Amino acid sequence: MKSNAIYSSLAPMGFITAGQLCMGSWRGYTVQLRPYNGQYYYLDVAVRVDKRDKSLSKNLRRRVKELSGKGLGCVNGGSHLSFVVSFNKKSPYQEQFENYMQAISSALRQEGISPADSCAVCGGGTPDSLCFYDSSYQPVHSACIRSSLEQARQDIEQNKLNGSYLTGFIGAFLGMIVGSLPSIFTIVVLEHIYAVLFALVPMVSAYGYRKFNGRMDKLSVVFVVLLSFVSVIVMQFVSTVILLMGELPMDAGEALALSAQLLLNLEGLMLIITSSGSLFLFMLLGIFIAWRSVIQTNSGSLKNLEGLGSTLRPNPAYSPESDSNSYYASESTSE
Ligand SMILES: [Zn+2]
Repeated sequence: MKSNAIYSSLAPMGFITAGQLCMGSWRGYTVQLRPYNGQYYYLDVAVRVDKRDKSLSKNLRRRVKELSGKGLGCVNGGSHLSFVVSFNKKSPYQEQFENYMQAISSALRQEGISPADSCAVCGGGTPDSLCFYDSSYQPVHSACIRSSLEQARQDIEQNKLNGSYLTGFIGAFLGMIVGSLPSIFTIVVLEHIYAVLFALVPMVSAYGYRKFNGRMDKLSVVFVVLLSFVSVIVMQFVSTVILLMGELPMDAGEALALSAQLLLNLEGLMLIITSSGSLFLFMLLGIFIAWRSVIQTNSGSLKNLEGLGSTLRPNPAYSPESDSNSYYASESTSE
């Protein structure tokens, strides 16, 4: 609720709200607010810097502190810098926002960093528009956004026509095996199951499904859940074999046979399932993570595309009626 009040206070400056995000242009800087950890916000500022430059965010933190007396966390995302800010009720939100931006833009100038002035999609100059792209609000060519949206739309259509449950299942199966390897490794070498590693299984499995041109609809989730379930049983089986070999004087073949005899029946399977609570818990965690990153149904992707396209706006830095507030204009008059 509070975020809405903050976001709407920026609306007079031409900022738009899209879901949890608020985005706009401030004196040539393309910026975005998004909630972070409850009472905080990330203030993302579009720039073009080296993502590997670890000292940059440290320097900027120090500069902002010198300039404003406020310590703002800073994360270097390469195409944007994310500053951690918070808002209080003591003064108008817009004023607080402007104060943050004043301090941040001065700090950026001191570090020799200018606002992003190349297209986030192709890297070319004179980006005529602004759009949400690849996790933040960015200067872009509207043509680049339109063609990448069109490409994504075609991919979805292609997947609807040609996506296959069979190849997807094979991919998900291979992914399940790859995702299980760390767990199998710890079972064999350390003789212990680390439940947290188990979250990898559905994630890699879902990735495999996608990479093998699996048809992206609700059934893809069923496959991933099913295979993850199977892998719980396989891992408990493997760890039983290892346990037997350690406890009893038998070789791998005998341990395998005994484990099969013990576990591969209804009672044995029930025992595995009831004793694997934590594994299932982490399996759910993995599915939850995969859901947000990998498992995206065609209809969900389409909705996302439409949302993305709806944030496309002209870039005020390059529009003919560019206001005197813009970074480029203010720099040319002050120097
Ligand atoms: Zn471009």
